[in-house]
Amino acid sequence: MTLSEKDALYNWHPYTQHKIFSHFPAIVKGNDEFLWDENGKQYIDAIASWWVNPFGHSNAFIAEAIYKQLTTLEHVLFGGFTHNVVVELAEKLIEILPANQRKFFYSDNGSTAVEVAIKASFQYHYNKGIKKNTIIAFEDAFHGDTFGAMAVSGIGLFTEAFQDALINVIRIPVPTKGNEESSKVALQKAIAENEVAAFIFEPLVLGAAGMVMYEASELDALIAICKQNAVFTIADEVMTGFGKTGKLFASNYLKNLPDMMCLSKALTGGTIPMAITTFTQAIFDGFVSDNKSHALFHGHTFTANPTGCAAALASIELLKNPTTLENIHRIQASHLQFEKHIQQHSKVKTTRVLGVIFALEIQVSEKQDYYSDLRNQFYNYFINKGVILRPVGNTIYILPSYIISNESLQQIYSTIEQAINEISC
Ligand SMILES: *Cc1c(COP(=O)(O)O)cnc(C)c1O
Repeated sequence: MTLSEKDALYNWHPYTQHKIFSHFPAIVKGNDEFLWDENGKQYIDAIASWWVNPFGHSNAFIAEAIYKQLTTLEHVLFGGFTHNVVVELAEKLIEILPANQRKFFYSDNGSTAVEVAIKASFQYHYNKGIKKNTIIAFEDAFHGDTFGAMAVSGIGLFTEAFQDALINVIRIPVPTKGNEESSKVALQKAIAENEVAAFIFEPLVLGAAGMVMYEASELDALIAICKQNAVFTIADEVMTGFGKTGKLFASNYLKNLPDMMCLSKALTGGTIPMAITTFTQAIFDGFVSDNKSHALFHGHTFTANPTGCAAALASIELLKNPTTLENIHRIQASHLQFEKHIQQHSKVKTTRVLGVIFALEIQVSEKQDYYSDLRNQFYNYFINKGVILRPVGNTIYILPSYIISNESLQQIYSTIEQAINEISC
């Protein structure tokens, strides 16, 4: 039996209808932007394995740091103890995060980072004897799959079954071109009519929605409304963080800084699952009290795991290397050139670029929309050609590692162009 066949006997894959899909390539090796399966077939990882991998697969520098940490102190509980690596990581984060972020809470993944932000938003007010029970979020947002994170995500196929079991969330339009005013009006109305604790958003780019982009000035305007009304703002930078948008954080494009930030994905260079929720001093202070019950009662077994912290430290060191920003700009320039070429194509509806992110929406005929298996046709085409791309609906996007070569970028572009030419839409 092949690895793929054995896998089908035991393993349950994420977001997968196993009646339709049950055979997956078994990856046995990774290096830089490349992966190889059990048959020796090579793939270009054009989406950095779900946006986690900025410095290439099996990065030797990060691996070395992890090995050194594993053989020094692999783990110690963070309840009642601290350790040298988490202190060093906090000092590094203070250097690179927006200036108002001063306190760090550690967890394991993007969803838990969001849960912590939501719980802190509610409890901050509860501690003051104020009841605030509502969160505002964008329509079509994605903030994760645990209950709180799912509640603030857009309503769809993924969350339908759980709608009765979720916290109170008001959804407002994303301020994309043409929707700026309706977004602001909806935010003001939601704040006026509800007891709103916080507004959570993916800054500048909604990743899972298909790399939907909007202007920093529009987010500044929404944050200003929240600040006037004592509503906390939560920037979910799980996808956008650590350089993807061309700056270290998407929040660096803003004039009005968020009160909280959620970080994960590229935090450890795509090696060890880890997340951080960051806070202003004022929010932290709202939990410091003679009343013991005012503490934030949240934690995870592997909170601030030293090995994860060591991986994050190594990854941040690579991030701060000047060649990293040069690479990000190189990729952006390359995307812009491809955009100029491909946006003329009759089957291309829209394109957008920010940092290392490129997205293209395909023009679909009504007939195709109805059958809507187009996405899978494209996905399979790309996999056959050895390029890992996961279209979202009719949107094809690229989000590569920063170390990807120009040659691999060109191969991704030409594969996309061929697919658009060959697949009837
Ligand atoms: C992926 C993602 C999450 C969820 O992270 P997980 O590690 O999958 O739980 C949350 N927010 C955003 C913006 C994401 O892209």
